[in-house]
This record gives sequence, structure tokens and C-alpha cells, in this order.
Amino acid sequence: MSVEHAAIVGAGVAGLTAALALAKHGISSEIFEQAPSLDEVGAGLQISPNASRILGKLDVLDRLTALWLEPQAIRLISGTTLRELASVPMGDTARLRWSAPYGVLHRASLQGALLGAVQQNPLCTLHLGVRLESGDIPDGSRKADVLIGADGAWSKIRDKVADSPVSRFSGNIAYRFTVSAADARGALDQHSVAAYLGPSAHLVCYPLREADRFNMVAITSGHSTAQAWSGQPTAGQRQQLLSRFSRWNGTLLSLLEKSEEMTFWPLYEATHGKWQNGRDTVLIGDAAHAMMPFAAQGAAMAIEDAYELASFLAKRPVAEALRMFEARRVPRINRLRQRGAFNQFAYHARGPVRIGRDIVLSLKSPQSLAADLDWIYGYHAID
Ligand SMILES: Cc1cc2nc3c(=O)[nH]c(=O)nc-3n(C[C@H](O)[C@H](O)[C@H](O)COP(=O)(O)OP(=O)(O)OC[C@H]3O[C@@H](n4cnc5c(N)ncnc54)[C@H](O)[C@@H]3O)c2cc1C
Repeated sequence: MSVEHAAIVGAGVAGLTAALALAKHGISSEIFEQAPSLDEVGAGLQISPNASRILGKLDVLDRLTALWLEPQAIRLISGTTLRELASVPMGDTARLRWSAPYGVLHRASLQGALLGAVQQNPLCTLHLGVRLESGDIPDGSRKADVLIGADGAWSKIRDKVADSPVSRFSGNIAYRFTVSAADARGALDQHSVAAYLGPSAHLVCYPLREADRFNMVAITSGHSTAQAWSGQPTAGQRQQLLSRFSRWNGTLLSLLEKSEEMTFWPLYEATHGKWQNGRDTVLIGDAAHAMMPFAAQGAAMAIEDAYELASFLAKRPVAEALRMFEARRVPRINRLRQRGAFNQFAYHARGPVRIGRDIVLSLKSPQSLAADLDWIYGYHAID
């Protein structure tokens, strides 16, 4: 049976991209989103060329380039001495090397651009304020040929897929916040993504052109009992963050102290498991493979998933398309998880490992660091 109509649960990056990608093949969809509106809490996103290439094909990229900043480099810097350890050229180099741009922006801007495109597309229908507990489509909706679970790290649609992944707390917390451009002046690079590395923690900073602020993400080990994405940190959690960074460079510490709109993100990751039921239901994005943000690829993988799933559904009977989708995506996601785990080890290294890391990085040319990213950023999704 070929697909004419899809039901998508969740209007995050995965769900909205899936609706647009299906529409490109003439397949209609209804998206069911639990939130009554798609407002986003403050957080930035790095959009790498593998994802921006797809957003270009879906006619969303122009909406982003009008808002985002294309950083000149991704820099790794010591969080204690502020010595640059490595720098990977981006900007025009990214456009040339991977034939698509690398940009940073507010996540709300990406979601807003996808939402605008969905609302203008007659094949896509979005229902807000509809929470699906079991995957049963609400009465009155059109019967769907395929159910796409794009409902994030705590997916309910997983219940419809035997041996699907489960989410578990990773032992790490992300504190996301912003500082004003005025506070950051003289302390942070206005043109780059900077990852400051220190023992058991790292801090990623980049400018958000739309907001005239800097996005900051501090990741460190911690405890969480909450099964929720973000929340305001308690005074104790904020104090814990400051104490983790107390031996860092004073300039960075004072930025942490000045931070505004801080949110607390316990980081959950999905275990390995089945993503499709062999018939009519499939998981994409964080529902399938929520991962730690050490490779900054979660949203990019959600975009790749959505695009490639639509391509398979357009050409094959549903069950076969779902199997082919899983077979194509699993090796790439596994390789990315390994890269994320390696980055975590390298970023948070202490003692002799840290010294070894710094030597290895200092011996690598910018070109060889860029070449290490070819398999991620140079990926061409199946049309
Ligand atoms: C600190 C941090 C930094 C990150 N930085 C980057 C980065 O720089 N680059 C990058 O590519 N990725 C990054 N990521 C990862 C990225 O944010 C996620 O991987 C991505 O947003 C996942 O998108 P999604 O659509 O799969 O899930 P979500 O964004 O979680 O969307 C799921 C949607 O489903 C809805 N929903 C859930 N349950 C139901 C239900 N039962 N019924 C109806 N609706 C439901 C939710 O309300 C939500 O809107 C980062 C993540 C973190 C935590």
C-alpha cells in the first residue's frame, strides 16, 4: 500500500520537518501537538550543513539565513587559561567544503520558520493542544496510512512499537541561559562558536543575532528526578553550577553569575531499540534516539530522519519503507552517539588525559579538524 496520508505526533523539529518533507512528495499529514501554542524557552541551536542542505530543499533555509549568524569558526578553548586549543573554520569554508551553510540561531526561530512553512502548505494540518496518550488518532481525523511518533524524549508512541527505546537520565545537566551582548563584550568572541573545556564540565557560547544576546550552555554532571525537559533551576542547583565552575577563569565565572533566564535541562538519552513495528508506526527524532548534545546534532538528526523517512514512504509500500528507513538510519545514529561519547570524554578530561588531549589538538591543522567532520556535515540525505 502506498501512502496518501500520515498522522504525526509532535510538532517539534522532527514533526514539522516530516510534514514538509511528506508534502514535497504530495503526501498530506495531520500533526497533533500537545502544547496549546509553539512558544519556546530561551535556547540556541547550531544548524550544521547536513541539516541546512535539507532545509534548503524544503524552502525553509531563506527564512533562517535572514535571522541567523554564520560563525567564522568553532573554537575549543581552555576554560581555565583561555588558551585556544583548536579552531575549525566555518563561515565561507563550510559553504565551500560541505556545499551548505553552518548557522546559529534561537531554537524558536527554527521552529517558527518550519511552522510558517507548514501553515502555508495546504497538505499540512496542525492541531495544537491535542495530547495523544496511546497513539489513537482523535475522532474526526482522517484515517492515516502511517503513524509517525515525533513526540520527543518521553515518547508515548514508543508503546506501540515492541522493544522500542526507553529514556534514561544520563547523569548530566545542561544549564541554558543568555547574557546580553553588552555584558559579553570583551569577554566572548562575537564571530565564533566557542566551547570552553574544563574538568568534568564545558561551556558553549555563541552569539544570537536575532536577540542581540549570547547563548550559553553549561554542561556538567548532576542529579535529576524530573522527567521534564526544562525548568527554572532552584537556588541550590544554581549554586551547584557556580561551585562546579569556581576554579574556572574569572571572566567566564562572572558571566555565569550575570546569567539571565537560566533553565535547567536534565539530559536524557534513549537506549537502543526498535524504531518501527514492521507495519504502520515509526519513531523519529528524539523519540527514536534522544542523545547527549556533545556533538550538537540532535535537531540535525531529527531533520535528516524526517526527510529520509518521507523519501522512503513516497517510493515504497509502508512496511517496507519503515524497514528501509530504520536500516539506513541506525548505523549513522550509532556512529554519532560514539562521536558524542568521545567528545564528552575529551571535553571533560582531567589530569594526564587532558594534557594528552591538548597536545593532540595542537598538532591538528584546521583542515584536518574540518576533515574529521566530513562524514557528519557532508552527508547527503536520500531524496
Ligand atoms: C542543551 C541542549 C543543546 C542542544 N543543542 C543542539 C544543537 O546545537 N544542534 C542540534 O542539532 N541539536 C541540539 N540539541 C538537540 C535538539 O534540541 C533535539 O534533539 C531536538 O530538538 C529534538 O527534536 P524532536 O522534534 O525530536 O523532539 P522535541 O523537540 O522534544 O519535540 C517533541 C514534540 O512532541 C510534543 N509531544 C510530546 N508528547 C506528546 C503527546 N503525547 N501528544 C502530542 N504531542 C506530544 C512535545 O510537546 C514537543 O513539541 C540540543 C539539546 C539540548 C538539551
